[in-house]
Formats: sequence, C-alpha cells, structure tokens
Amino acid sequence: MEFPFGISRSIKTVARTVRVELTYLHRGETLLALGEAVPSSFYGETYQTVMAFYDRLVQEQALEGLNPLDLPELEQRLAQYPENMAAKAGLEIAFHDLVGKIRQQPLYTFWRLEPTPLPKTSYTIGIADTETVRHKTKIALERGYDVLKIKLGGPDDLEILRLIRAMAPKATLRVDANAGWTLDEALSISDKLYELGIEFIEAPLQLASPDSDYIRLKSEGAVPIMADENCHTLKDVPRCADLFHAINLKHTKTGGLAEAKRMIYAAREHGLKVMLGGFAETSISVTAFAHLAPLVDYADLDACLLIANDPYEGLLFKGSEITLPDRPGIGVISRFNPH
Ligand SMILES: [Mg+2]
Repeated sequence: MEFPFGISRSIKTVARTVRVELTYLHRGETLLALGEAVPSSFYGETYQTVMAFYDRLVQEQALEGLNPLDLPELEQRLAQYPENMAAKAGLEIAFHDLVGKIRQQPLYTFWRLEPTPLPKTSYTIGIADTETVRHKTKIALERGYDVLKIKLGGPDDLEILRLIRAMAPKATLRVDANAGWTLDEALSISDKLYELGIEFIEAPLQLASPDSDYIRLKSEGAVPIMADENCHTLKDVPRCADLFHAINLKHTKTGGLAEAKRMIYAAREHGLKVMLGGFAETSISVTAFAHLAPLVDYADLDACLLIANDPYEGLLFKGSEITLPDRPGIGVISRFNPH
C-alpha cells in the first residue's frame, strides 16, 4: 500500500493478490490473457486458498475440453465448487480477457456497451489521525481527485469530515463506515453528514443489525445508504432493495464479471443505484471491472491508485475522470514487458 490503509476493523500495509495467466493458441498465434484474484480474509480467502483452488481445478480436470468462448459453460463448471469467489473471479476475468483477444475487441464492445460517459471514480482516504488525513487529502487534491470516499469508524469521524470539507469545499464526498455503527449512532450522525453534503453512507450498520434497523435508517436517515458487506451475489439484490438505496459490487464477492453484470440489471429493476468497487488490487482487476462502468451510477475504482507498485497499465485516470483502454480484451498491459 502507498499509505497504511485503515478501515473500521483493520489496518493494511501489504495486500497479496494472485495473477492469473492463460495462454491459448489461436490460429497460430499465442494469446496471453490476464486475470487477478483478490482474496479477502474477511470473506475467508487468502492467496493460499486461491492457489489451492486452482491446483484442485487442474487435478480434477475441471476445465478439460472447455471452449474458451463459452463463458456460461465456464461459470457452470466453476459453480460446481462452493465458495472461493475471489479465486473464481480471477479465472473468469482472464477468460473474459481471452474472449476479447480472440474477438479482437475491447470487452465493452463485446458486451455492446459504449465506453463513454463513465462516472467519476472516488479516491479513498483511510482512517488515520487528523494530521495524516490532512496530508493525504492534500495529496489527493493535488492529484486532481474531486470525488473522495472517506473511511469512518474512528473516534474523530465528524472532526475529520469537517476538516476535509473545509479543504475541499466543492468535492463530492462519500463515506464508508464498514459496518461499524449501531442504528442510534447512524441516525444521530446522519443529519450532520447531510449538512456536510455527503453523497451517501456505505455500510452504515453493524452486520448483526436486524433488517428493521436498515429499514428505519433508510426511511429516517438524511443521507442515502449503500450496501457492501450485505450484498454479495444476485440473490441478495431484492432484499438489499428493501434495505438500501444502492449497492457496491466487487468481483471478490460476485465471483466474476458475469454475475456482477446480472446484478446491475437486477438492481435497475428493483430501483437500486449501483457502484463498482474493489479491494487492494492492481490495474488488472480495476480495469476488468471498469468495463461495467458504462452501466453504473458510481465508481470506486481507485484500488490500483492506493498501491505503491502497480505492475500494470489499464484504466486511465485524469484526476477522478476515468477512460477505458481501447485495446482488445480487458486492455491491460505490463508496465515492464508490454505485450
Ligand atoms: Mg465498503
């Protein structure tokens, strides 16, 4: 991580992800496709469980005879195995990259999406002491980020938000409590967040909170609320539509791009807004997920900006404005060894 990254339940200085490479001989040309699994210990995965899952797929010849263009068949075969959502996503992303490279078109074109307009991405300010937050906000503003997502759940939440608002009077500010508050805490802070012009609160309530708490916060709170830890796959969407105004998707939760795309359409039907998010990950993950950005309301695609050593180049940033690369597949290349 460029800076130690604090959220309500942890501080992270290093993130380990797993790069997936597929090589495929197509009409005499060797195509290399890239994916990335981003395991989250919060969801019971580590890089070791990801590697063990891939070993198991090889041992059991789970992908034997698979037509790489047949993405639904890939999903069905992976669905034979429970859990391991980050591992499945890493592989599924690489197959999406491969399909685009075989078809010689960007993934968004394969999906028949227009690459513009895209929502701006937020840049995340983790939990830290006031001086560190001041320093990080200054750097973020110097880098041109005018949408900031602030992690809450520390002792000085309001003081920190007032500081950031004073430094960035015109910026769009959103907050993420990472399931840190009780209903009373959330209700009492909601009015103050409204006064500070906060766009939405992500994951306001503790995970054990009953549905009735979310329903009260949704109707009585002054600021819209977004699901993160409560929303994993398609089956969660209808319930989240009762409890939240919006959902945050991450491929570590959905198990891949196809499920995320289905969730976006389902969310629309249920009147939910949608954000694309992520964990600490490289441009492989961020760029792959960003191909869904034409379909969503909000982007939180800064994960590759928060790490110190991104080995890849993909999604382009101009401050908070994002542009999809027009190369085939997910459009990611190595910074050190372009191919
Ligand atoms: Mg979150």
